Amino acid sequence: MKSLVLEEKGKLSLRDYPIEREEPMGPRDVRIKLHTVGICGSDVHYYTHGGIGVFQVKAPMILGHEASGTVVEVGPEVTTLNEGDRVCMEPGIPDPNSRATRMGMYNIDPAVRFWATPPVHGILRPTVVHPEAFTFKLPDNVSFAEAAMVEPLAVGVHAATKAQVKPGDIALVIGAGPIGLVTALSALAAGCARVFVSDIDDRKLELAASLGPITPINVAKQDLTQEILKATDGWGVEIVLECSGSPKAASGVFDPLCPGGRVVFIGSQVHDIPYSVGKAMVREARVEHVFRYAHVFPRCVAMLSSGAIDVKPLITRTFAFDESVHAFEVAAAAPPGEVKMQIELPQ
Ligand SMILES: [Zn+2]
Repeated sequence: MKSLVLEEKGKLSLRDYPIEREEPMGPRDVRIKLHTVGICGSDVHYYTHGGIGVFQVKAPMILGHEASGTVVEVGPEVTTLNEGDRVCMEPGIPDPNSRATRMGMYNIDPAVRFWATPPVHGILRPTVVHPEAFTFKLPDNVSFAEAAMVEPLAVGVHAATKAQVKPGDIALVIGAGPIGLVTALSALAAGCARVFVSDIDDRKLELAASLGPITPINVAKQDLTQEILKATDGWGVEIVLECSGSPKAASGVFDPLCPGGRVVFIGSQVHDIPYSVGKAMVREARVEHVFRYAHVFPRCVAMLSSGAIDVKPLITRTFAFDESVHAFEVAAAAPPGEVKMQIELPQ
């Protein structure tokens, strides 16, 4: 069976890539047969731009990091997983002895090896060897497609955790892409009474509004701060979650924020952006940043299983593995209304 290989910027191929035969199995590792893989903005960016910041594709690399699958082999010291278990996987493997990991911040361990981040291969391929510690068993009522959404959902849950959502908070999520929508769902699950979601794509906003007590704001037609102030009696929102990665949106996060509010920057910024320290200061705003996530995969799986969060409406398109190259062309064209596209591997 083949793998989806990014040969170089703009060039993808489905071809045999003998990586599995080279992968050693440690005593606490499991081998997983991949089932469903989500296409992430970062995968698409590597395809269209050949790199993200310091991570540049210099040799052929297999794409994909949002995955679910089935355990097909377990190392001799594995205790929590068995052959045949359905699982999802955390794509970053930190160095267990690094200072950041020992302090619990394994996601910001500078030595973390993360799937489909050069030079580490991703998982659009038949099987992968992965540590038991970063592999999570799925309850029967969580599908492979939902399980492949746990990775992006983890970003939203980590952001809601950083925001320290209190029951009844009102939040604004800037950006209605996959990360914006999982962040809105996470904010609601964490206790927000209402979430505003802003974007310029009416179809994504319509989808957002169907997910719960979510008020859409189209910033191409409406003034974001005015709408928020109007809806909150001039007070503003307790939490702003910036998921757009737009420099303009990110530099305006304090305008709709209430006194004592919190801002979490989630969307990546390629370049430096200006923001008003004065506006942050008069609000005593607390500003947080997230980089991926830590310690939240089991929480995400539990919320999908209990129904506290439903990610199914976010999966707008599914491709067969042999259509992978086409799937990436579609994703790169960013058709309006599409949120999460996934690829299903043959079983
Ligand atoms: Zn992702």
